[in-house]
Amino acid sequence: MNVYDSGRMADVLAPIGYAPAEAPDGADMVILNTCHIREKAAEKVFSELGRLRVLKDEKRAAGGDLLIAVAGCVAQAEGEEILARAPFVDIVLGPQAYHKLPEMVAQAERAAATAAAEGKPKAGRGILDTDFPAEPKFDFLPAPSVSGPAAFLSIQEGCDKFCTFCVVPYTRGAEYSRPVAAIVAEARQMVAAGVTEITLLGQNVNAFHGEGADGTEWGLGRLCRELGAIDGLTRIRYTTSHPRDVDDDLVAAHRDVPALMPFIHLPVQSGSDRILRAMNRGHTADQYRTIVDRLKGARDDLALSSDFIVGFPGETDADFAATLKLVEDVGYIQAYSFKYSPRPGTPAAGMPNQVPEAVKDERLAALQALLNNQQAAFNQSCIGREMDVLLDREGRHAGQLLGRSPYMQPVHATAPAALFGRVARLRIVSAGPLSLGGELVAADPPSSSERACA
Ligand code: SAH
Ligand code: SF4
Repeated sequence: MNVYDSGRMADVLAPIGYAPAEAPDGADMVILNTCHIREKAAEKVFSELGRLRVLKDEKRAAGGDLLIAVAGCVAQAEGEEILARAPFVDIVLGPQAYHKLPEMVAQAERAAATAAAEGKPKAGRGILDTDFPAEPKFDFLPAPSVSGPAAFLSIQEGCDKFCTFCVVPYTRGAEYSRPVAAIVAEARQMVAAGVTEITLLGQNVNAFHGEGADGTEWGLGRLCRELGAIDGLTRIRYTTSHPRDVDDDLVAAHRDVPALMPFIHLPVQSGSDRILRAMNRGHTADQYRTIVDRLKGARDDLALSSDFIVGFPGETDADFAATLKLVEDVGYIQAYSFKYSPRPGTPAAGMPNQVPEAVKDERLAALQALLNNQQAAFNQSCIGREMDVLLDREGRHAGQLLGRSPYMQPVHATAPAALFGRVARLRIVSAGPLSLGGELVAADPPSSSERACA
């Protein structure tokens, strides 16, 4: 989401003369686009700001300036705190205010110029905008610029689920779905610009309920069918989905829409019913197993990834054992796992029985060992299979291209440069813990409706 948002910020700033720079040195402005999901992220922002301050002071001493903006969820959650702890920051803006960035930059430029003319060390107090405007920002953003064959498309934002550990409902605001017509138009523009793979984005992407052309609310399944009919769009992904919002139509779309990739990120967080209840996830471990079975019933080559939190308040050894059991039962080909990090203002932060760091460390290591084994075993099982790989990057060695399998595994292969940006059928000949090696079988396989793995 932040990668997508950063792109959109670059898009809105282009008309007022800003273009992305390679590095902060020499730049006229630095925007830190921040994440607040876990503790370290916020601390990283403050230490990064310390470094930028040095750069700003140097530039000002030389008669210039460096505008510093903090965007994203840390900005939303700690707006005033940022201006107090780092008063040299020029702009603080929350995730729902990006469309107002040009206006804020112009204002900051004027303030900086006035301060410089008056020989003052500082351009007054920084500008702060952490509102949740009534009109969604999407109505004001220009069409996204794309480069390369794979693109993100944001279809939904915010969250109303209030899991007890999570800051998203507070930082991104209430759930909002974009209208179907706007999404389809954006997807068509992307395809016309050479995109063949679109990843639909949302904090709760399958809670999507956008207004359809017929005035009714469409779910994600129906949207995927509509997008699947766009000529030239051969791969559709979506992330992040919530188990509670996997409805029958979405399951059926996995059976019916060939472009829908057979790989779903479906976070479960814990395998213990007690902990799932305390997290307010709204489902049990067995209900999750059933959802996975339904999805695999629709498409037998479907694979899953997940997010896990270890050491949620009150998590016992037995609760953790239930998580390991669930991982063994479901089998993930990739996963993210985190130690629980208390987020200020969330209910779980104030719960009793916080788990000691050492116990969290131990559990995280055990969980990651199991998940890594599953990932390595899946990669190994791909040897000998043929896979469609979207070759979208230069490889490390000359004559090599790098791409993504239907399961998002990085795959490298010796391939002619002409295949850059295209889907090629590769036979997998080697596997490491995180990536695969392939040999070219054919470019642009005859039918994208074929199964992902032969
Ligand atoms: N909407 C998605 C998750 C979005 S947040 C869902 O409901 O699954 C991304 C991930 O960050 C979460 O899945 C969770 O595993 C992790 N996370 C969120 N808050 C956290 C916290 N306080 N401590 C540790 N991990 C957290
Ligand atoms: Fe956070 Fe996801 Fe829960 Fe929403 S559903 S509160 S984004 S973890």
